[in-house]
Amino acid sequence: MKVQLLDESTINQIAAGEVIERPASVVKELVENSLDAGASQVTVEVIEGGKSLIRIADNGEGMSPEDARLALQRHATSKLRSASDLFSIKTMGFRGEALPSIASISRLTLDTRTAASDKGLRLSLEGGKELKEESLGSAVGTIISVSDLFYNVPARKKFLKADSTELSQIIAVLEKMILANPKVRFKLTSTGRIILQSTGNEQLLEAVVSIYGKDIASKLLPLVLDTGPRLKIHGLVSLPTYLKNDRKGQVFFVNNRPVNDGILIKALREGFRNTIPTNQHPYAFIFIDIDPSQVDVNVHPAKLEVRFANSQDIFSAVRSAVNNALLGSVTKASDELPEPVRSETSDSTIPRSKIQNPKLSAPSWTPAMLPKWEELISTSGSKTPDTSTRVPITTGSTHTAPAFQVNDSYIAAIMDGELALIDQHAAQERLLFDIFSERLARQETASQQLLVPIVLELSARESVLLNDQLDNLHAMGFELSASGANSFLIRSVPVEIAQRDPNEVLKEVLTELLEDGTGKVDRDALLKMMACKAAIKAGQRLNSSEIAALIDDLQKHPSARTCPHGRPTVIKLSAKELARMFKRT
Ligand code: ADP
Ligand code: MG
Repeated sequence: MKVQLLDESTINQIAAGEVIERPASVVKELVENSLDAGASQVTVEVIEGGKSLIRIADNGEGMSPEDARLALQRHATSKLRSASDLFSIKTMGFRGEALPSIASISRLTLDTRTAASDKGLRLSLEGGKELKEESLGSAVGTIISVSDLFYNVPARKKFLKADSTELSQIIAVLEKMILANPKVRFKLTSTGRIILQSTGNEQLLEAVVSIYGKDIASKLLPLVLDTGPRLKIHGLVSLPTYLKNDRKGQVFFVNNRPVNDGILIKALREGFRNTIPTNQHPYAFIFIDIDPSQVDVNVHPAKLEVRFANSQDIFSAVRSAVNNALLGSVTKASDELPEPVRSETSDSTIPRSKIQNPKLSAPSWTPAMLPKWEELISTSGSKTPDTSTRVPITTGSTHTAPAFQVNDSYIAAIMDGELALIDQHAAQERLLFDIFSERLARQETASQQLLVPIVLELSARESVLLNDQLDNLHAMGFELSASGANSFLIRSVPVEIAQRDPNEVLKEVLTELLEDGTGKVDRDALLKMMACKAAIKAGQRLNSSEIAALIDDLQKHPSARTCPHGRPTVIKLSAKELARMFKRT
């Protein structure tokens, strides 16, 4: 007989293949279970990016011993009784696949206790097979430890990325959980170090701050649109002056599930039409509450795609919600909404009343209370927090540039008796790269101490990357120390960048590290990034002494004729070549 039924553990491994791609998928499934169990506190601990250990502890309702045993079997769920329930699902899970799938590809222990029982239960499994069952004293709730993920599926294990990349995926999952559940206190640690921590105090803004750092608190506008019971939108969008070079600061939720959807992205973009450059993106945390019959969120269990019954309506609603937020006219929200809950705990710079979770505080707003972003535009110019920032390396550049800087990007000069055309950015990038690497080779540092240490506020992901690079940065002349979960104190900087805002240079480098995504940036690559970010930009007006200094440096470093990416930094034309070009020969 050729046709045979697959055994249970093979079936579970196949199911695992569909939902469990990497440690972050385990975190997603298990944290969803904790939320479904009504937890108000969820702690996630990982080691080696979750490859060797993921432990998730919650204070939810727990499981009785019978339920715990059943939960580890395929298609066992407490969330669905019949197919008709499928259309009114309120929980995150319902397939009853996650636990047995994860168990089949790891060594798993499950500790759990309900309030009804005074003893807890521990189940230990390996590759889905139960090894041991013991009773133990434990708090009400559930702790699931997943060790050695994919230990029995080498083909999958092989595809896992560097620990820091896997950790960054886990952070991304938890960031969305934190945003969607401001009432829940989340904590993520990696080998004991706190990476992410939310307060669980119900405020969306505070959830955002726990992820993106304190700087963002004063840069967000509330967004509310209430079109009745079928469609409500709320959230926060950044001022048109506070932009990113990528869309990583944008998260959309449909009925509280994070989703990826082109329509929503486009609608946000349209809402900002004509207020921001096309290559820059606002931060946006947008929650769409829609009649469940009008949306199919189950297009794919892991890919977070949605299908709207009427996508044009959604598009217009999101666009006008964004538009209204920018115009400062808040659409009147329904009157039954509770009065805003005031919190004194935040140290953000704008009054709490303006920045609370819009769902709660909408009725108390008036347009006049919104930050005046028009003023911010005119006073801060194009200043933005990310790599787009253009700030002169020296002050006082109001000086009229000498007639030979072309297009604020190239310099025409005489060097060694030849006409030299210099690409100011490429040239300085090369010089900085050479100076940094020479110094590193000689194990010297040339730091300039800052009069007052500068605080660098980072997102969780940025601080993971920065921590990875602390040794390299130190070798380059930065003196940095952690001063909180996601903030650092900068005490010294390399002399070459002393004229630049170190916060900005470091943030630009971190953005590039985030984009790199491999988690394997070595010192040389970091040097290149630093040189690029610290260098004069193309399009930056230079004064005559800056130009003279650049030419002088180039003459002292004759090797600096190509930039670290291999493009030329200087094009020279000798008298002979000029003569030929003028057809004098
Ligand atoms: P699903 O979430 O789709 O029901 P799972 O395999 O993820 O399937 O979980 C199976 C069942 O185990 C859940 O329905 C729930 O009853 C129970 N369970 C899982 N995790 C927890 C938890 N952290 N706390 C309480 N019960 C849980
Ligand atoms: Mg589940």
